[in-house]
Amino acid sequence: MNDRRDLERLCIHTVTTKPLSLEKAVESYGRAGVKGITVWRDALEGHEPRAAGRRIRDAGLEVVSLCRGGFFPAASEAARREAVDENRRIVDEAAALGAPLIVLVCGAVPGMPLAEARRQIADGIAAVLPHAREAGVALGVEPLHPMYADSRSAVNTLAQANDLCRKLAHPSLGVVVDVYHLWWDPDLEREIERAGGSILAFHVSDWKTPTEDLLLDRGLMGEGCIPIRGIREWVEAAGFGGYNEVEIFSRRRWEMDQSELLEEIVEAYQLHS
Ligand code: ZN
Repeated sequence: MNDRRDLERLCIHTVTTKPLSLEKAVESYGRAGVKGITVWRDALEGHEPRAAGRRIRDAGLEVVSLCRGGFFPAASEAARREAVDENRRIVDEAAALGAPLIVLVCGAVPGMPLAEARRQIADGIAAVLPHAREAGVALGVEPLHPMYADSRSAVNTLAQANDLCRKLAHPSLGVVVDVYHLWWDPDLEREIERAGGSILAFHVSDWKTPTEDLLLDRGLMGEGCIPIRGIREWVEAAGFGGYNEVEIFSRRRWEMDQSELLEEIVEAYQLHS
């Protein structure tokens, strides 16, 4: 039997409660005892980032990160340049919001050799890093499960993300560990240890059997087969002391009453994270 956790390290991604407006999310998270919020850019649309950040902090919540930047690889030079420009704008947005971190979903192009996509990712990140440093915002490379290697990310293991960080060796660059993407990796414990202090964020959800939709059927913690507490112990042993961020894309849960969903999340977090 697991011990119940307190909520001090509980953060929720706005996408988890996608039907809620940012205002509503902030209000409901605060009421549910949630301490941190990771803001997705779609939730920020139509808001002035500085005012949104103020509102979040006034509600007693901490802005943990902005999701998301990345998507660097592209077929043409012009499109790659545009991706870098867009990421610089995202850095400005994060700085205004008061988010210390941008989560990078690095990107991939169907049909482009993965090695080429990975080169373009390294170049893209390197081009954004000086601006990020100036703005005081860190970039976190989030490896995505290999099922997304065609179109969302050519960075698919923590080993790759660690190698990339080592190669670019920049104080504003680190990795994001998301249990949904990485739980299957036989090298995970070793790579978490290797990442050490460069782990900038920790995302939790669960892998359901069967998974009915590869994107929109993530489970609540405890509903699937991911040993979340074990992985959390590894990241904490590596020196990570930040939030556990609940990031769940679930069509079924977006259809339910979102305050009931928040109650479910709090309960699942206490028991299984
Ligand atoms: Zn994630």
